[in-house]
Amino acid sequence: MPDHLYPFRGDPIPGALARRVLFPGDPGYPRYTSGYFRGARPGVVVRPESIAEVQEAVRFAARHRDVPLGLLSGGHGLSGRSLNDDGIVIAVDALNEITVSDGNRVRVGPGARWGEVAKALAPHRLAITAGDHGGVGVGGLATTAGIGWFARRRGLTIDHLRSVDVVTADGELVHASAEENTDLFWAVRGAGANFGVVVSFEFEAHPVSERVGFAMLAYVPDDVAAFLRAWGTTIENADPTVTGTLMVSPSRPGSPAVVQALIVVDEHDPDTVVDRLQPFAALAPMADQSVRMVPYAALLDLPAGGEQQHGQGEPRGHAGLVRHLSTDVARGLADLLASRSSFILSIRSAGGAVADHPTDSAAYGWRDANFLIAMLGGGTGEVEQRWADLVPRFEGMYLSFETDTGPDVLARAFPAGHLRRLRALKATWDPTGLFRDNFFIAPDSDPAELVAQL
Ligand SMILES: Cc1cc2nc3c(=O)[nH]c(=O)nc-3n(C[C@H](O)[C@H](O)[C@H](O)COP(=O)(O)OP(=O)(O)OC[C@H]3O[C@@H](n4cnc5c(N)ncnc54)[C@H](O)[C@@H]3O)c2cc1C
Repeated sequence: MPDHLYPFRGDPIPGALARRVLFPGDPGYPRYTSGYFRGARPGVVVRPESIAEVQEAVRFAARHRDVPLGLLSGGHGLSGRSLNDDGIVIAVDALNEITVSDGNRVRVGPGARWGEVAKALAPHRLAITAGDHGGVGVGGLATTAGIGWFARRRGLTIDHLRSVDVVTADGELVHASAEENTDLFWAVRGAGANFGVVVSFEFEAHPVSERVGFAMLAYVPDDVAAFLRAWGTTIENADPTVTGTLMVSPSRPGSPAVVQALIVVDEHDPDTVVDRLQPFAALAPMADQSVRMVPYAALLDLPAGGEQQHGQGEPRGHAGLVRHLSTDVARGLADLLASRSSFILSIRSAGGAVADHPTDSAAYGWRDANFLIAMLGGGTGEVEQRWADLVPRFEGMYLSFETDTGPDVLARAFPAGHLRRLRALKATWDPTGLFRDNFFIAPDSDPAELVAQL
């Protein structure tokens, strides 16, 4: 990295960060002009290589409230603006160490990718349930929830979090766990981006067998709404080792809808895997199917040399969480798919062990939702209207797949009591709203009064 001594907006770069900043034109800077989806042109990228440097970077950013501040770990965010135009980006992608200790305790830096975590844990026959894409960063996913391939058996990623180290808005390093700074620990597990830069995550990993079952089924249902209802019931009644995702796009006029199902069965015995998949075989005619036994790490595999990110423009996505794929929800989704716009609709299963934790155990508050529905793309008036018609049928929202912002969206992202508590905690931990790139939660002006109301 160049050794920079020149200033950002007239403010000298602190000496400790002189070798950690990238300005437009610097070698290395172009890497921060594309995330997985978004294009950007930050005014300055600060890329700390130690926790002390993250603290320095946060103090520096606090002097520049008039420009956007992005926090970047893996760069796969839809909701947050981890990259921005003309602002500051604190990129913690270099903090990517993964250390296994004490049997199943794993310390992970925010810049590690979930594919790397899966690979590092595989020799120990351990895993941490995370998303379904190996390139996603630990920092963004583990501060939101983490709905992954073992969700129904192992719960959310945040359910395996035992402690975090956070650089808060005043630049201090704070340790938070179930014993220490418990309110911050509560907030980080669902709304982490509002409370600081998480510089280290301590997880308790869960066992995983050498291979798990992985099925890819291409359904061609006559009646999409009826199929979605049946899929929902089948997943809800399946053994908790079974977690599945549907992916579907509007079909071309005259062509049948093809619904792609990806199902993981967290079980080492191939006969048991086939047994548990049987109810899915009967749901609709299939154009294609395959079932394999694969190492979990292979499901999150990344290309050699890492994933290149070329995102440009501004992604559009919406999300909703529902308890059941009821007739009403399934009909609304079928209507959405009948539009002629281009988008991908995914339905991931949550449920099972996700509901083993009380609703108020973490800032993520939708424990009883069995399905995460997300739409990526669209953007036409017709699709937006059909999505808006669906929104009242949702019980909650998962902010990782939502690109709309504003108070009404925030009100859907958290149950009302959770949001009140988050606003009170924001007033304690980030009273001036430094961390605001991802669903900014306005600090409540009188936190003591609010906490008393809870
Ligand atoms: C292809 C793809 C598949 C996905 N699949 C799943 C899935 O199966 N399950 C699931 O739950 N999610 C999934 N996601 C959503 C993903 O979890 C979020 O987009 C997540 O925010 C990405 O994290 P990141 O670190 O890569 O992103 P970044 O763009 O680096 O960060 C996103 C936001 O997270 C916050 N953030 C980042 N790092 C930190 C930090 N260290 N401390 C505090 N806040 C931070 C910031 O506000 C930032 O704007 C998927 C996303 C993609 C693109």
